[in-house]
Amino acid sequence: MTRFKWLPILCVAVAGMLVAQEPENAPVLHSFAVIRAGVLIDGKTGAPRRDQVIFIRGNRIDSVADAANAKIPAGATVIDLSRATVLPGLIDSHTHIFLQGEDPSEGGYDANILKYPLALRAARATVSARRALEQGFTTLRDLETEGAGYGDVGIKEAIEGGYIPGPRLFVVTRAISTTGGYPLEGYAPELEMPKGVQIIDGPVAARKAAREQLDHGADWIKVYMTHRSWVGKNGELASQPTLTLEELKAIVDETHGWGKKVACHAYSGAGLQRALDGGCDSIEHGLQITDAQIAQMVKQGTWYCPTISVYYTDWAAADTPAGQRDRLRASAHEDSFRKALKAGVKIVFGTDMGGIPWTEPIAQEFPRMVDLGMSPADAIVSATSRAAEMLDMTGQIGVIAPGAFADIIAVPGDPLKDIKQLGNVRFVMKDGKVFRNEAQ
Ligand SMILES: [Zn+2]
Repeated sequence: MTRFKWLPILCVAVAGMLVAQEPENAPVLHSFAVIRAGVLIDGKTGAPRRDQVIFIRGNRIDSVADAANAKIPAGATVIDLSRATVLPGLIDSHTHIFLQGEDPSEGGYDANILKYPLALRAARATVSARRALEQGFTTLRDLETEGAGYGDVGIKEAIEGGYIPGPRLFVVTRAISTTGGYPLEGYAPELEMPKGVQIIDGPVAARKAAREQLDHGADWIKVYMTHRSWVGKNGELASQPTLTLEELKAIVDETHGWGKKVACHAYSGAGLQRALDGGCDSIEHGLQITDAQIAQMVKQGTWYCPTISVYYTDWAAADTPAGQRDRLRASAHEDSFRKALKAGVKIVFGTDMGGIPWTEPIAQEFPRMVDLGMSPADAIVSATSRAAEMLDMTGQIGVIAPGAFADIIAVPGDPLKDIKQLGNVRFVMKDGKVFRNEAQ
């Protein structure tokens, strides 16, 4: 028996009392707000509608109507965005709030784990979450804490409890890789170094790690299916596979049993193939995907979260093996993205922020996608309703429609003409509360 046993009964009883005591035509208990939208892109599609009015009751969208037919109730708060383009709050499906684009000159990735107290990392993650919200990203799928354990669950609870501002978070906690499959690396073999992920070897350990992470609050499980990468003998992007098919299948089976999904970091080759054969729900990065693998993704309904921008930063010198690898990563990635787009793979917007410093704009990924052939409307859908579908939140987030959470943003220009406008968010409402308003 738990102490929560009587809670549902109590709630029903209290609700009943409220209904019983409420006289007919009583004033609405929830706050009522109205947004006038000059142009509305509802996120279900990228198509624009002019002069719309959005009615918001509490934290949900009540209705959407043509301005000409809309009756605005007395006492409603009116937010005038009639000179702006209004969209659903954006979704970044690949972030790391516990990373800060680690500068090698400041100790790089390792210093995070070896030197920084967890409280410092949590404080910085709090700032990252706030930055995302300021830029109109009202939902993040945050894909592991990089050695900060279950800190993402704590930040999520702090946001949901109203202690700090931030987006809705879908978190994966520690993530999973194998021995030899994740930093910290390069230390004396006598030393037992901490790792940025939970290390497993064998299907039993794999399943146990997934169970632990799910038990401690993981919304998704993240698995690293490849690790080191280099230019292969035939000029291909070679990458070191990590988990075996049996190890991955144990994780996927366990996670699906909990009604949750598995995100797989996979660059190319055997590791990417195992990710697909093992039933991964989303491929992260997918730098070099073969035609057969793209066909398999379409057939299986695998999501693709490419994270293009991050592979254009921090290139090593062109005449070094690492520099050649870095350039091949970017060029192979462009080909993979174009092929996946043409084949109809379900592509979602993701950045790998944290790998990119949080001081940089999140929306920089949009023009990358559009430059590679995605239409601006499709790019918007990839960061709204399509991402919501991947997160099993269809109709709840990523749309401006009756019943959805009131996560709403606005930009001054037309993102269908110039996708860079999405880097110019001036209004942010999350869960019915205005967080930022410089648009009126
Ligand atoms: Zn990442």
